Amino acid sequence: MSDAATGTTAPAPAPSAALLAVPRSGWHVATVASTRRETPNASRIELEVDGWPGNAAGQHLDVRLTAPDGYTATRSYSIASSGAGTRVTIAVDKLPDGEVSPYLVDEVRAGDMLEVHGPLGAFFVWAPDAADAAAAGEARPVQLIAGGSGVVPLYAMAEAHGAAHDLTSFRLLYSVRSPDDVYFADELRRLAEASAALQLDLVYTRRSPAGWPTPPARITREVLEAAVIPAAERPRVFVCGSTGFVERVADWLVELGHDARSIRTERYGGT
Ligand SMILES: Cc1cc2nc3c(=O)[nH]c(=O)nc-3n(C[C@H](O)[C@H](O)[C@H](O)COP(=O)(O)OP(=O)(O)OC[C@H]3O[C@@H](n4cnc5c(N)ncnc54)[C@H](O)[C@@H]3O)c2cc1C
Repeated sequence: MSDAATGTTAPAPAPSAALLAVPRSGWHVATVASTRRETPNASRIELEVDGWPGNAAGQHLDVRLTAPDGYTATRSYSIASSGAGTRVTIAVDKLPDGEVSPYLVDEVRAGDMLEVHGPLGAFFVWAPDAADAAAAGEARPVQLIAGGSGVVPLYAMAEAHGAAHDLTSFRLLYSVRSPDDVYFADELRRLAEASAALQLDLVYTRRSPAGWPTPPARITREVLEAAVIPAAERPRVFVCGSTGFVERVADWLVELGHDARSIRTERYGGT
């Protein structure tokens, strides 16, 4: 939080239980049920949200923090969980100079209260409603493409796909810095092992595991072409990550012949 007049940086706002006793219209009180390190730079936060109506895979929510002086800061976070129920999971990557994410990653503890608004977003969602169509051979395959923390809503889709025993062909191309930076690593591995309908393709940009067949490198158009469902199979495509990542990937997909109307994107900000 920078003060433009003085150039000083104020501490991130801490949520105030007193202010949260009566939630504002359209907002829910969320109690932090648990937190854990997801990667060296990110935390998984499980919330118990009073009155949460459930959510589809791919949706997001807004988190609002309120400082004791009344200053508020609101940020969006994708929801890693889906379905009915009042338990909601998010995963937050810490931006070193960020206002909100360092607080959520390093400071928030079980029992803390936050305000959340949602679920939000009806466009970037996948539902296992196509299961019958898949059985009849009509469902279009689904290509998921994630950069870093952008995997959160795509993990929700893969998890919903697995939970529904959906037969739609799913492929997840996931770009991460190093093996330590894979979000939901165990869960993704288990999902891919449990279902022949889910293929997981990892691309390491800074450090690969020992014996990995390719040196670390960012996704190129050629890598993308080799690792995604071909345009001829008319996949529905979901791309999520930093703005620069999403825009590059979406442009390449169109160049590779994918129908722009079949590409859904979620931009997290940054470059
Ligand atoms: C729909 C939606 C869903 C999102 N879901 C998630 C999620 O699941 N997990 C998650 O960690 N984040 C997610 N984000 C990003 C999140 O909303 C915040 O932008 C992020 O946590 C940074 O907030 P901050 O207050 O720490 O940083 P700020 O104080 O807002 O920004 C600090 C600096 O970092 C830059 N910046 C902001 N966002 C990014 C970024 N993503 N990458 C690189 N630089 C950035 C800003 O331009 C600024 O220069 C999502 C964003 C959107 C729009």
